[in-house]
Amino acid sequence: MDTYVYRIGNNLYVNLTNRCSNRCTFCVRNGKETFEGYALWLKGGEPTAAQVTAALGECDCDEVVFCGFGEPTYRLDVMSEVCGYVHAHGKRTRLNTNGHGSLINGRNIAPELAGKLDGINISLNASDARRYKALCRPLYPAAFEEMLAFARACRDQGLNCWFSVVDCIGEEEVAACRNIADAVGIPLRVRPMIEA
Ligand code: SF4
Repeated sequence: MDTYVYRIGNNLYVNLTNRCSNRCTFCVRNGKETFEGYALWLKGGEPTAAQVTAALGECDCDEVVFCGFGEPTYRLDVMSEVCGYVHAHGKRTRLNTNGHGSLINGRNIAPELAGKLDGINISLNASDARRYKALCRPLYPAAFEEMLAFARACRDQGLNCWFSVVDCIGEEEVAACRNIADAVGIPLRVRPMIEA
């Protein structure tokens, strides 16, 4: 049975796809069958919105987070529909994204996220395109620049968004990432590395 929804702490996480436009060297998927005990490789295909909402039930959680073993914006329509369901249950929504959603969908998707997502965590990961390419191995050559453009577009929509980096990149690199976040005008959150 595929895992569409899983719980960590007080949050429910939604696993919409295994597709991703990055192949990060540090990805929790690398060489793994499970994460936190959950089998997140979708062997029976990607879920429909109805399958996700059935798995969410009454949304017994603080927040519903679109995350999982893949980049959720590949499933923009399903994510939007599920956001409506979560809000109807009075709960918050968050997207954890690599910031490639506009590239993936071939248009600026930020306006479509307004009113749907209460928080957007954009993985910055590195302070320049060269480092980003080495660390994240993106499918799109302009992924770093387009991720920054996505962040600016979310900011311009008034969306509650922030960049994140993992602490293992070192103090100097964190400081350089902070400069980028300041230039874009959104916060930077530094999170501990999850052991893959
Ligand atoms: S963007 Fe996320 S899911 Fe995709 S490879 Fe990187 S860490 Fe893994």
